[in-house]
Amino acid sequence: MEQHVNVVIIGGGFAGVQAAKALARRAPAARVLLLDRNNYHTFTPLLYQVATAAIQPEDIAYPIRSILRRMRNVAFRLTEVSDVDLERRTVQTDDGSISYDYVIFAAGSTTNFFGTDGAQDHSFGLKDLSEAIALRNHLLGTVERAAAEADVAKRSRLLTVVIVGGGPTGVEMAGAVTELVRLMIRHDYPMLDPAEVQVLLVEAGPRLLGGFQPKLGDAALRYLRRNGVDVRLGQAVKVVDESGVSLSTGESIETPTVVWAAGVEARGLVPGLTPAPHANNRLAVLPTLQLEGHPQVYVAGDMAALRQGNALLPMLAPVGMQQGRCAGENVAEQLAGRAPKPFRYVDRGVMATLGRSNAVAQIGPVTLSGFIAWLAWLGLHIVDLVGFRNRALVLVNWIWDYFFLTSGARVIIAADKKSDSD
Ligand SMILES: Cc1cc2nc3c(=O)[nH]c(=O)nc-3n(C[C@H](O)[C@H](O)[C@H](O)COP(=O)(O)OP(=O)(O)OC[C@H]3O[C@@H](n4cnc5c(N)ncnc54)[C@H](O)[C@@H]3O)c2cc1C
Repeated sequence: MEQHVNVVIIGGGFAGVQAAKALARRAPAARVLLLDRNNYHTFTPLLYQVATAAIQPEDIAYPIRSILRRMRNVAFRLTEVSDVDLERRTVQTDDGSISYDYVIFAAGSTTNFFGTDGAQDHSFGLKDLSEAIALRNHLLGTVERAAAEADVAKRSRLLTVVIVGGGPTGVEMAGAVTELVRLMIRHDYPMLDPAEVQVLLVEAGPRLLGGFQPKLGDAALRYLRRNGVDVRLGQAVKVVDESGVSLSTGESIETPTVVWAAGVEARGLVPGLTPAPHANNRLAVLPTLQLEGHPQVYVAGDMAALRQGNALLPMLAPVGMQQGRCAGENVAEQLAGRAPKPFRYVDRGVMATLGRSNAVAQIGPVTLSGFIAWLAWLGLHIVDLVGFRNRALVLVNWIWDYFFLTSGARVIIAADKKSDSD
C-alpha cells in the first residue's frame, strides 16, 4: 500500500494558506491537513474598516474550504490547537491528537497589553473579526446612548474615544473613528453636535508611525490634528478601568471606549519552547524557516523571528505570505530528497491610511503621502483582497460599502466582546 507523508499546517491565515498552495503545487503526493479555529481566512489590513462600520465583515472574510477547493491533497479541519509534542510529533487539538511527519506553525499573533493594569479587561482589541464586530457594536451603541443622554458631562464621556498606540493600526483607527462618528452624527443624529466628539490617540514614543520614515509620521500627525484628533505623543497609558484611562502625565480621561492598538505578540503554541529575546514572543528559526534541532518543523508569519540584514523581519502580511510559501516549498524539497532553501524577503513597502482619501506609503526609497499614497494603498489592498477572494464581485461590494456609507454595516448585532484569541 502507498505510504503518504502527513503534513499539518496550524493556522489558515496569510502564511498557512500560502503554505497549503505551495504544497498542493509542489508535493501532490503528500497528505496535507490545514487546521484553524475559524472556518474563514481574515484579510486583517481592513479589520479597522469593519470596526468602524465602513464595510461589512463578509467583505474581508472568506471560507477556508473554498480557498482549498481545487487542492486535491489538502484537507481542512475546524479545530483549536492547544499544544504540539515535538518528540512524539503530534498536534493536540480540541478533538484529539493528530500525528505529523512535517508541521508548519502559522498561528499568527495575539494582542500584547504589555502588562498594563486593566487593559485586557477594559479595552477593545482589534486582532480578529469577532473583536472588530464587537468594537463596531460598541461604537454604534455608545452613539445611540449619547443621543438619549441629556446630561452634558455624561454625553461627552460617551462621545470620547481613546486609541492606544500610534502605529499603523492606531493611526488608521483614529482617522476612521473620527470619520464614522462625525458622519453618522451629521446624517442620522440631528440631536447631537459633531463638535462634541473627542478622539484621542495616545502614543508613548516621540512620533507616530515609528516603523516609517519620520516625515510620514509627521504627515500623519498633521492630517489627524487637522481633522480634530487629539494626538498625545510621549504619553503612556498607565491604567485602564471602567471609567476610562489614566496617563503617565497624571491626567485621567473619562471614556467607555478604549481601543488597544499598541502591539502584538506571537502566539505561544508550544509552552516548552523559549522565544527569541526581544522578539515579541516569536520563535527563532533557521534561514530555511526550520526550528533548530527539528528539521521537520517550520515556523512562518507572525510566529517566526528571522533576521534579514540588521533587523528582525516585521510582523506583516507580505512577510507571512512569502514565508508560508517558502515553508511549503521547503517541505516539498525535503520530500524530494533535496535540501531546503533559505528564505529571502522581498519588501513591497509599508502603507497606512489616514482617511477616506489620504494615506502615507513607503515603497523602497520612495515616500508618498496624501491622495496619491491613498491610490497606491487602494490598488495594493484591493488587488490583494480580490486575489484572496478571487471574485470581482468583492471589489464592487467593497467600493459600494466604502464610498456609499452603506447603512448595512451600521447595524448593531449582539456579539461576545471576548476575543477568540483569549
Ligand atoms: C488590525 C490589523 C491590521 C493589520 N494591517 C496590516 C497591513 O495593513 N499590512 C500588513 O502587511 N500587515 C498588517 N497586519 C499584520 C498581518 O495581519 C499579520 O502580519 C499577518 O496576518 C501574519 O500572518 P500569519 O499567517 O502569521 O497570521 P494570521 O494571518 O493571523 O493567521 C493565523 C491563523 O491561525 C489561526 N489560529 C490561531 N491560533 C490557533 C489555534 N490555537 N488553533 C488553530 N488555529 C489557530 C487563526 O484563526 C488565523 O486564521 C495587520 C494586523 C492587524 C491585527
